[in-house]
Amino acid sequence: MSFDAELNQRLATIRTQGLFRELRRIDSPQSPRIRIGGKTFLNFSSNDYLGLANDPVLKDAAIKAVRKFGVGSGASRLICGSLAPFHELEAALADFKKTGAALTFSTGYATALGTICALLGRDDIIILDKRVHASIVDAARFSGAKLRVFDHNDLNDLEDKLKWAEKNIRHSTRRVLIVTESVFSMDGDAAPLREIVALKEKYGAWLMVDEAHATGIIGKNGRGLANKLGVGEQIEIQMGTLGKALGSSGGYICGSRMLIDFLINRARSFIFSTAPVPAAAAVAAAAIQFVQSKPGKVRRDLLWLRVKQANSKLKNQNSKLLSAIIPVILGDESTAVSAAAHLREQGIFIPAIRYPTVARGAARLRVTLTASHSADDVATMSRALEQIANQNRNS
Ligand SMILES: *Cc1c(COP(=O)(O)O)cnc(C)c1O
Repeated sequence: MSFDAELNQRLATIRTQGLFRELRRIDSPQSPRIRIGGKTFLNFSSNDYLGLANDPVLKDAAIKAVRKFGVGSGASRLICGSLAPFHELEAALADFKKTGAALTFSTGYATALGTICALLGRDDIIILDKRVHASIVDAARFSGAKLRVFDHNDLNDLEDKLKWAEKNIRHSTRRVLIVTESVFSMDGDAAPLREIVALKEKYGAWLMVDEAHATGIIGKNGRGLANKLGVGEQIEIQMGTLGKALGSSGGYICGSRMLIDFLINRARSFIFSTAPVPAAAAVAAAAIQFVQSKPGKVRRDLLWLRVKQANSKLKNQNSKLLSAIIPVILGDESTAVSAAAHLREQGIFIPAIRYPTVARGAARLRVTLTASHSADDVATMSRALEQIANQNRNS
């Protein structure tokens, strides 16, 4: 069989499972209204929670950085690419998260991969929440560490895994790392961070928390859930991304100066990769300043107002969750795909999230609210979703 014929066959299998994915070209900036194929859609799919991706303040920061530092970084940070905007951003991040230091990477994916693989190897053990992001799962596998998964947010199961690790760790110099998210990307619920911190201290494990969906929007000044719960200092490795609420792109680690120096020396996705464009760092630094300012608080208050509206309109059972992510679970992959298509016909863009992003049979529409949506936008979206729910009930 020819190369393409074989791939075509594999794609056919993906299609019959309702798992085929395709790119949709967007001809407008990221905002509540996006242009696809000459049509305008109401967008409830972006992680641009504060509407910063197309904000004039951040665009200005990018333009200034381009004028001053050009567009490309020229090399890896360790060769000659460590331009001033990266250092300014890292100082801003460390101050924001109240840690000794910070390091940024080209993406969140590269952050997880570089960090976990630098810290752990074959003789170590890594314990993950069942629903952590694929970047963390991939990093854990790639590190070669023994991998254990605990049921989502289940402290008893986590403790069982820690007890198992205690018995199975070969040397006292070997390490156990727990990794979780603070706000989960596809479910919008939060991890019991205080209790997880207590467990990791009890068993002498390390803890890494990914705040991709909390940074910028949760806690005082948007410092994240760990800061809000007062456990930031006990978490060895605080991770996050710059491409969601902060409106730019990239990933970061906040932690001790020792951790950052170690990563600069050992994180391969940092060492062997060209530095991102300096404008991306300048934008993220401007965003960190923005979220801590009064207009930043106004933007956050607006976001939470829209979340509240959507939660009450959608009668979200899990409305205690303090996140901008509302999962509408439909179960079957094809049902989710046709629901998304139906919404698109009505000019609403909410993609179906399917395996392998979520478990098989847990396909869903993932609604994300932003501060840029109007009350009318939320009402339109809620009505359309209600209709779909009624149709599913009647079929
Ligand atoms: C988006 C995301 C990442 C990956 O970050 P990118 O910058 O998009 O590569 C990592 N972890 C979580 C929880 C995410 O949601």
